[in-house]
Amino acid sequence: MKERLYLFDTTLRDGAQTNGVDFTLADKLAIAGMLDELGIDYVEGGYPGANPTDTELFATDRTLHTKFTAFGMTRRPGRSASNDPGLAALLAAKADAICFVAKSWDYHVKVALETTEEENLASIRDSVRAAKAKGREVLLDCEHFFDGYKANPQYALACAKAAYDEGARWVVLCDTNGGTLPHEAEAIVGEVCKVIPGDHVGIHAHNDTEQAVAISLAAVRAGARQIQGTLNGLGERCGNANLVSIIPTLKLKKDFADAFDIGVSDAALHKLAHISRALDERLNRGSNRHAPYVGESAFATKAGIHASAILKDPATYEHVAPDSVGNKRKVLVSEQAGKSNILAELERIGLKVDKDDPRIGRLLDVVKERETAGYAYETADASFEMLARRTLGTVPNYFDVNQFDVNVEQRYNAKGERVTVTMAVVKVKIGKDNVISAAEGNGPVNALDLALRKDLGKYQKYIDGLKLTDYRVRILNGGTGAVTRVLIESEDETGDHWTTVGVSANIIDASFQALMDSIIYKLVKSGAPA
Ligand SMILES: [Zn+2]
Repeated sequence: MKERLYLFDTTLRDGAQTNGVDFTLADKLAIAGMLDELGIDYVEGGYPGANPTDTELFATDRTLHTKFTAFGMTRRPGRSASNDPGLAALLAAKADAICFVAKSWDYHVKVALETTEEENLASIRDSVRAAKAKGREVLLDCEHFFDGYKANPQYALACAKAAYDEGARWVVLCDTNGGTLPHEAEAIVGEVCKVIPGDHVGIHAHNDTEQAVAISLAAVRAGARQIQGTLNGLGERCGNANLVSIIPTLKLKKDFADAFDIGVSDAALHKLAHISRALDERLNRGSNRHAPYVGESAFATKAGIHASAILKDPATYEHVAPDSVGNKRKVLVSEQAGKSNILAELERIGLKVDKDDPRIGRLLDVVKERETAGYAYETADASFEMLARRTLGTVPNYFDVNQFDVNVEQRYNAKGERVTVTMAVVKVKIGKDNVISAAEGNGPVNALDLALRKDLGKYQKYIDGLKLTDYRVRILNGGTGAVTRVLIESEDETGDHWTTVGVSANIIDASFQALMDSIIYKLVKSGAPA
């Protein structure tokens, strides 16, 4: 019989502390959906009452399988639980579980909280009781637990015990400053599990010595049965324990896989690389190529003896199968391996081509050349498909955009207000017909998009359900100066999503390329006749 190990994600709360990360409500909902899809047991959404985004998030109904968790403080010292507005906001939040944070280091109780040790314990008990009375599952984050334990083990334990005895489902030991080492964590968690059953103990590690994953696994070895962490190790300072590294370790490494079940299925594990990259895309930042398991280079080998051995039997130089986490093997430089990557991609999108077809080599050259120029075909799956179809000669020439013009004007309107007005005009040739469309938009790309899709004649009905759902811009500094990469995410009436890319020194031109790819992709997908 395997034991159940629980995963608690705090990307949306602790991860929101990352320098340069600022989640919108839409970001939070999308990321919560990704975590839910992955099979994470608890998703901590944020701190209701602390900022408008989190307050709105917890006022919204959700349909997630995960236990959506609200974070907040225990009642303030010297107040009753019923007379604390912070606690009231937390209890009112639409959440399945509440995670309280409380001091567990006597020094912090005295200096930061300016109260007595007994009052801090009473605050923990009262808060747990109040949340349980509201029907919530309760967790207590014991802040500075490891430092507190080293200074005063009796008091640190008393804080944890107070919550457990009051009925908290989980007592979470936090290494708030991130300085604890794995062997220390293992010893201290072992001591805690003598007092509180391990299946009620969690670990919350920070990565300040680059060992947050190791600390989490050491805590599990010592008896803890909940791991808290974030996607891609997001978090304040050096980040939190990286769930994207922890999950495959638990699933694929024998010692853990034989002993524990987690909520992440084998099928969900296949999506891990995709989810990790999707998060970076959403944050508009490049993915770490060298990230364990999911990085683009995690299974990349340069040509030579390793590469030729890998081609004979991948297990020779790979610790796990790249496909198990949705990643890909890459053999750099080798022409042969590049070709097999392309062939695998073509098979995935349903294009049947003979492996010795000379056009494959041509496509490979074009992909390499364009990726060097800034195109990101791994993300822009639809643009890759268009490029492949064009190279293989199977995309009809539906229409030509002979000319477009985008005009941005700033002026005073009739009310004397300063306004910016954007207008786009496109001249499109569809068969024998010439069509001119104009549209106003809230910006140049929006206006261009609206004008382009306003009238495509006989093709209009095929693109009616097309919607742009995201638009992201990155400035790339190449060898020959800055270029702009635009990624556009589209959706249609069937709920399908796809991403297209454009690259140019000019942002409008880059956007135009990505828009065109998206429209043509939709026409091909819908089976529009040539
Ligand atoms: Zn933390």
